[in-house]
Amino acid sequence: MANACSRVTQKTTKMSGVLKPLTFEVINECKTTKARTGRMLLIHHHVNTPVFMPVGTQGTLKGLLPQQLEELDCQIMLSNTYHLGTRPGPEILKKAGGLHKFMNWKRALLTDSGGFQMVSLLKLAEITEEGVKFSSPYDGSECMLTPEHSIEIQNAIGADIIMQLDDVVASTTTGPRVEEAMHRTTRWLDRCLSAHQRPTEQSVFPIVQGALNPDLRTQSATKQSKREVNGFAVGGLSGGESKQDFWKMVHLSTDILPKDKPRYLMGVGFAVDLVVCSALGIDMFDCVFPSRTARFGCALVRSGQLSLRQRIYKHDRRPIDENCDCSTCKTYTRAYLHHLVTVETVACHALTVHNIAFQLKLMKDIQSSIEKQNFPEFIREFMLTVYPDRNYPEWIVKALGAVNVELS
Ligand SMILES: [Zn+2]
Repeated sequence: MANACSRVTQKTTKMSGVLKPLTFEVINECKTTKARTGRMLLIHHHVNTPVFMPVGTQGTLKGLLPQQLEELDCQIMLSNTYHLGTRPGPEILKKAGGLHKFMNWKRALLTDSGGFQMVSLLKLAEITEEGVKFSSPYDGSECMLTPEHSIEIQNAIGADIIMQLDDVVASTTTGPRVEEAMHRTTRWLDRCLSAHQRPTEQSVFPIVQGALNPDLRTQSATKQSKREVNGFAVGGLSGGESKQDFWKMVHLSTDILPKDKPRYLMGVGFAVDLVVCSALGIDMFDCVFPSRTARFGCALVRSGQLSLRQRIYKHDRRPIDENCDCSTCKTYTRAYLHHLVTVETVACHALTVHNIAFQLKLMKDIQSSIEKQNFPEFIREFMLTVYPDRNYPEWIVKALGAVNVELS
């Protein structure tokens, strides 16, 4: 598979005459919504979109080996620059020949800039025009993550897609700070693009900011779209804002961002959100939720979640999901998983396998319904499974209404 893919990449590269680390082709467009399917060709692997990217914080998913992710046919995963930049650090990664070789993952990788992790993990982070100033969690010394430094670490990690350092504000922030952060994000993008040392192998994605202010979001999406880049991200959402505000900002952003480039909505991974935001024209998603919730004994199913800690599963001899063909569902009963859950780490492993398989299967189903031009029917069926009494949340009705899908 990897060989076939690199052949395709080389062919595309030759055809365009320029070495490009990412080419994106929209394959099918939904005739009703803004959804589309596409194919991204990256240096390490191809990616079919819309795609969900599992998050491997330390260069692996908690409870899963890279090889197992490949067996689940995951095409791209995300790693956190903050964690990898601190430990093992860029020098060890460089010597190993990059993160792909270090973790023996042959498929595509995306890294974040490290800024969000820093601001959310470290209480003492302070943002200045130069970068994010923080005290080292190891020895308390003062450190600075600048746009240049973020790109330097990401160049050492070597992911196919890398993110600009952005000035992140909580989505519910209002007032002049939002405007300042939005403009600074574009200035930092330009610094990131200038600092980028591997433009023929890695693509820097700009991030659209502007919190929940439609004017600032519009300005940000418009400004960022003018840069010569291979894809875009929508950031600063999924941080506790109302769902009504959330979908409107996504809808507005995809209306402005170029149609011929992939659009990545950061930090979103609930099944309902994946369906709605695919309809709003998003191509890429990531979230720690499926693997995190597995550690708490929760298995994802189309109707919601099974909390396997509950005693009702003690004698339940069915798999988590009869229609799932992951190794956990093929091998183990709910009763056995109930017995192990929160007691043995192997339960976390088994549930993570299932939850990642669940996310990947959902995206495959979204892709195939767009291909067959029955995505609106797929959405209605999906929502009826989640809300069998048809008591749909207002934001879902409005968001889908905005792309011509009526829930009945
Ligand atoms: Zn399963």
